[in-house]
Amino acid sequence: MDLNQKPRGRFAPSPSGRMHLGNAWTALLAWLDIRKLGGTMVLRMEDLDPDRCRPQFAEGLVEDLQWLGLDWDEGPDRPGVAASYKQSERSDLYQAAFDSLGQRGLVYPCFCSRAELRSVASAPHAGEAEPVYSGRCAGLSMTEQAEKLSVRRQAAYRLRVGEAEISFTDQLFGPQRQKLNQSCGDFVIRRSDGVYAYQLAVVVDDAMMQIDRVLRGADLLASTPRQIYLWQLLGYPPPTFIHAPLLLAADGSRLSKRQGSLTIEALRGSGVRPEQIIGQLAVWAGLIEQPEPLRPDELIDVFSLDKLPREPVVVGDTLTNLI
Ligand code: GLU
Repeated sequence: MDLNQKPRGRFAPSPSGRMHLGNAWTALLAWLDIRKLGGTMVLRMEDLDPDRCRPQFAEGLVEDLQWLGLDWDEGPDRPGVAASYKQSERSDLYQAAFDSLGQRGLVYPCFCSRAELRSVASAPHAGEAEPVYSGRCAGLSMTEQAEKLSVRRQAAYRLRVGEAEISFTDQLFGPQRQKLNQSCGDFVIRRSDGVYAYQLAVVVDDAMMQIDRVLRGADLLASTPRQIYLWQLLGYPPPTFIHAPLLLAADGSRLSKRQGSLTIEALRGSGVRPEQIIGQLAVWAGLIEQPEPLRPDELIDVFSLDKLPREPVVVGDTLTNLI
């Protein structure tokens, strides 16, 4: 890594729905982290999964981020070091990484049924069961693989994890250690329909986009060792990881865009001002004590990772009450 390079961070939303308060929270924190350091902010559309992502959601995300007062230096609308900034246009790069891992004997086809596998193009979020793969297809001979491929034609492809044990220090959650064969087993890097898995794509993208600070939701903390393993195999130094505690609804469930409530669009439609949302997020982030209308750039001076909560933040009905 070039020591003179300015830090590079990113916000990498999946356009599978409208932007949610939880996405706004991580977007704001990632933006503040990079702006505080005078670095470069990248917006990457993680529209890898054609089954779930829609162009209108990507447009909505851009609109919502801009409305909130967040900007970026590189993105789909302003190419920088590593265009394209849409995963749907980067398959060649994922293919090259996939081939290089395959040439080293690290990848094998898996014929286990859909019921045994979950969809892997999207990021696994906390609370969603993550089965450890049994290794059923790991030992198939070349002949058995060829026979099965001639009948089934399609296979998912898994990366062998062997005895890999990954340690890293998260800037908020502290030291982490995972033995991959106990946490997930050999994991899918390409789905049986040919779509590359999130775990592979996110590493290829962050590496090519020279990202050295990844601030994202704590639901992805458990995926990080898998990603570091890929960073190592592909020969790049992993970035600094900062996982932000999640915002939770009053019932303890994750504020997810899939719930439909509390989208930025809905709040905006009810007359809530972007400054009110930013002010409330700043209270939850420990940056100010009482909610007051603020723009993101007014928080740069007071931002510090040390102030962020270490536990999930239960947001209850705070913003709904503003409507
Ligand atoms: N696209 C992922 C999501 O929306 C985030 C991936 C990441 O930040 O690594 O959950």
